This record gives sequence, C-alpha cells and structure tokens, in this order.
Amino acid sequence: MKVNGSCHCGNIEFDAEIDTESGAKRVQAFCPVCGTPLYSSAEGNPTHMFVRVGTIRQRASLRPTVQIWRRSAVKWLKDLDSVPGSPEQQALTA
Ligand SMILES: [Zn+2]
Repeated sequence: MKVNGSCHCGNIEFDAEIDTESGAKRVQAFCPVCGTPLYSSAEGNPTHMFVRVGTIRQRASLRPTVQIWRRSAVKWLKDLDSVPGSPEQQALTA
C-alpha cells in the first residue's frame, strides 16, 4: 500500500510503500525540529524503512491483520473497548 505522512510540525513529509516489520534490531529516525519518531531501519545498509503508523495520513485504513509478541501482552488489552475513552487529551470525569 502506498501511503504518505508527516511529522507533527510538518517539517518532514514522505511518501512510502508499506510492509510488515520483522522485529530485528533497528536504527530510529526523528524529526530534528519537533522530535516526532518517523521511521526505523536496519543498522548498516538498510534496504527498507519502517514508517511509524502515527505519521501516516491513511492510518485509519491500516487495520492490523496479525498480532505478534502476544505472550507479553497485558491481560486487560482484550477488554480495552469496555474502558471509558475521551476523543482528546482532556481528563475524564468519573
Ligand atoms: Zn517535525
């Protein structure tokens, strides 16, 4: 899938072809202005960049198709939809 996106401040914009990650050791890249994590890649001579989904404008279309490292998942994760939520940063009132 072709996607595009940017860091929080808009200093960096990108177009990319996305794929899945392997879990190998990574080098991380950040926007030098706002610090947004943008992508990771293998050390040395990387052949692929792994774009952070939060920077992709089409992220709502990127529904996960597999979950990995489930052995370390917190038990409450499967019940997260039952937890009260807020559309923004504001504190919830009980
Ligand atoms: Zn930025």
